Amino acid sequence: MQLNFDIARKRMMDQIIARGVADRRVIEAMSKIRRHLFVEEAMAAQAYSDTSLPIGERQTISQPHTVALMTESLKLTGREKVLEIGTGSGYQAAVLATLCDKVYTIERIRSLALRARKVLDSHGLLNVNIRIGDGSCGWPDEAPFDAIIVTAGAPALPADLVDQLAPGGRMVIPVGDEAAQTMLIISKDADGSVKTERTIGCKFVKLVGKSGWQAEL
Ligand code: SAM
Repeated sequence: MQLNFDIARKRMMDQIIARGVADRRVIEAMSKIRRHLFVEEAMAAQAYSDTSLPIGERQTISQPHTVALMTESLKLTGREKVLEIGTGSGYQAAVLATLCDKVYTIERIRSLALRARKVLDSHGLLNVNIRIGDGSCGWPDEAPFDAIIVTAGAPALPADLVDQLAPGGRMVIPVGDEAAQTMLIISKDADGSVKTERTIGCKFVKLVGKSGWQAEL
């Protein structure tokens, strides 16, 4: 079975490369991380199709191509302190953890955060700090961050996250309405000025919180 997973992962990466992802470090990281361990056992056979999958609590693990694109857009070199909002399964955090110095990731749903912690520990990824709570306000005690990645769709760019981005830092975040968003890449110059680049269209689950959408009752 392990061999089948290895072959399936290689095919998935070939597709991602064919679609234009070129950062060698991102490709190497995703070629090693066993995505099938981040989904429920019943879903493992589908783990290397290039699709998002349910992870429980009405949340999803993002599509691998999207993970690759978002990670590539951060231009990580290995020295960065990175903030992720929306830990979910922990897969994106695992990719980040192999590409930067330290990852700080926030998940609002406790059961998902606890499961992600277990999987990341089993991978020996000890440079990932997980917090349970509303990440739409960031992690002020640990700011500034060299890179920020938001893996849930926001109605607008959260000001706290922009504030917590270090000069020279980059943030990637889907912003739009509930039906569809645009992926924004925010770069902060050394003098603190902020540029916004609009990239692909995408569809994420909602960022729920103070600077996100209201929780459904
Ligand atoms: N990065 C995840 C992965 O690799 O599996 C996928 C994340 S999933 C698409 C979005 C996640 O964001 C969900 O787990 C959801 O509970 C979480 N979320 C939504 N709003 C949040 C908030 N304000 N703070 C923290 N997490 C939030």
